[in-house]
Amino acid sequence: MSVSDLAPLREIIARYGLSADKSFGQHFLLDLNITDKIARATGPLSGVTVMEIGPGPGGLTRSLLTAGAEKVVAVEMDIRFMPALEDIINASDERLKVVLGNGLKVNPADHGVTRIAANLPYNVGTKMLINWLTARPIFWDRLVLMFQKEVADRVTARPGDKAFGRLAILTQSIASADNLMDVPARAFTPPPKVDSAVVVLEPLPVGERYDDLKSLSSVTQAAFGMRRKMLRRSLRGIGKQKGLDVDNWLKTAGVDPEKRPEALQIEDFHRLADYLRENSKAA
Ligand code: SAM
Repeated sequence: MSVSDLAPLREIIARYGLSADKSFGQHFLLDLNITDKIARATGPLSGVTVMEIGPGPGGLTRSLLTAGAEKVVAVEMDIRFMPALEDIINASDERLKVVLGNGLKVNPADHGVTRIAANLPYNVGTKMLINWLTARPIFWDRLVLMFQKEVADRVTARPGDKAFGRLAILTQSIASADNLMDVPARAFTPPPKVDSAVVVLEPLPVGERYDDLKSLSSVTQAAFGMRRKMLRRSLRGIGKQKGLDVDNWLKTAGVDPEKRPEALQIEDFHRLADYLRENSKAA
């Protein structure tokens, strides 16, 4: 038997009594056209070990295997899915390895993973993304991730966009970030309250990455914490805390003190973060 010969997902869900548990953020993708599209965006997969976070009954898992992944390492917290996943292990010549545990605590690099594809649980999606952005070295060459649409917009936003802020700046300082497709709530079983979107991230060339995400995070948190205020005002608090003269900070970084944060380019935030790192007085 091969993966494509397995019983349809709805049948598997009924056979093993896999009702969705909200506490695990469970909304299943049973439409293989969508999971196949996510798998295609993750590929080509020959010779690649892909990690999937939260396989659930295994729709995306099947698509990744059918698309030719050498190995899929699937991390799932809910033990109820094990029988359904074991069927896939058997049908895939053991190209699937299941890790029972919390995706936030698993180090993908320990499993030889170079790519991640996931329909992420909403409550931990952003945290997982930040973990992978701050991993050193960057072990992945692509992430293909489903988020709720509002989060996906915040990841892919460009300067001037309504959703532009800390998450876009942190993400795009390390990787390119593009929307692959929007996925309406009705595509999931059961449907969540909001729509979703799939985002594709690829690391920038090494010389173009901005590595000091800690300083960048402090600056963007201060600036976007007062999104409607000019930078001269929004950076005052952190400036005082770090012993910096804000006018001098902005001038040295070449940033207009009367601008609001959404009007800046990502490189402007890099210069502000450089100055913060180099000139902060120890508390
Ligand atoms: N991939 C499946 C699909 O597309 O149909 C299920 C996606 S569902 C949105 C999220 C899945 O992540 C569930 O199977 C849930 O049990 C699992 N999950 C939730 N929190 C997790 C965590 N911290 N680590 C690993 N898996 C988790």
